[in-house]
Amino acid sequence: MLSEFDLIKQYFTRKGRPDASGRTVLGVGDDCALLAPTPGMQLAVSSDMLVEGRHFLAGADAFDLGHKSLAVNLSDLAAMGAAPLGFTLALALPAADPAWLDGFSRGLFALADAHGCELVGGDTTKGPLNICITIFGELAPGTALRRDAARPGDDIWISGTLGDARLALADSLDELALDEADRRQAAPRLHAPSPRVALGRLLAGERLAHAALDISDGLVGDLGHILAASEVGALLDVDALPAGPALARQALDLRRRFTAAGGDDYELCFTAPAANRDAILAAGQRSGTPVTRVGRIETEPGLRLVDGGGAPLALNLHGWDHFA
Ligand code: ADP
Ligand code: MG
Repeated sequence: MLSEFDLIKQYFTRKGRPDASGRTVLGVGDDCALLAPTPGMQLAVSSDMLVEGRHFLAGADAFDLGHKSLAVNLSDLAAMGAAPLGFTLALALPAADPAWLDGFSRGLFALADAHGCELVGGDTTKGPLNICITIFGELAPGTALRRDAARPGDDIWISGTLGDARLALADSLDELALDEADRRQAAPRLHAPSPRVALGRLLAGERLAHAALDISDGLVGDLGHILAASEVGALLDVDALPAGPALARQALDLRRRFTAAGGDDYELCFTAPAANRDAILAAGQRSGTPVTRVGRIETEPGLRLVDGGGAPLALNLHGWDHFA
């Protein structure tokens, strides 16, 4: 049986690694980690917790969980336009299972290395499986993509595609049955999302966007947070929403509901002046992330959904609320 300290040493301590961000003075092993942000930059800090039975099903693949628990945190940095510095990991484990720890840490570090974001500390305890990461990033003062910064007349944009994660969830809950090819395409969107860090950094760094957030609970609900914080309304063309490739093969009503309010998309929704359209398309290309214009910020409060012909659309939609 592994002791707590053996476990930390074996799976979560990487000695002699070059610090990719160049900003970690002291990592795992002391009472605190020491980070040295670039002088003059602001820290961006966010935590996300994944709880078994709530955010993932018991028996979920350990490698995917390692990936996803960091991905959802990187996605928050992306939504702010921040560059990753490092992260901490607070882990409650029912048992010290070497196979699980090996898979989890490999999934975690593969994504950490892809983003130059080092694990610098954490806490480990016995308990029901619970994974909480706190991530640290940095950005230049005044460049953060805040939820309260949308302005009437802004375009509304979406990165990537929406709905395939919700489609994969529906398939795994037997709400519908995907064929094998669609399942193979949709499942990674649910289990291994790609945080849009490069795009977010360009949008903030080049001051192309006003407001942004990452879509975790469904676009309509999450866009509502921007509208409330910015005290504006919006017109959203539901048929302009880019559906994931598997969802694009489904019937129109499902496509509309899962793109507009699917959940677990981890794409960016951002608002930007119309004058920046070409620069935003170029930023999408440079970051390898397609971007699609799907609506407009308006003065009148509320969210108005329309179809491709501009006619009002009534969809029975709501974001995912853990306490509803
Ligand atoms: P303390 O009792 O001072 O909080 P711990 O015994 O909890 O220290 O942890 C020892 C060291 O291991 C600390 O540097 C802590 O940040 C690190 N650590 C603990 N758990 C993890 C983990 N899951 N991942 C990374 N580092 C961890
Ligand atoms: Mg501790």
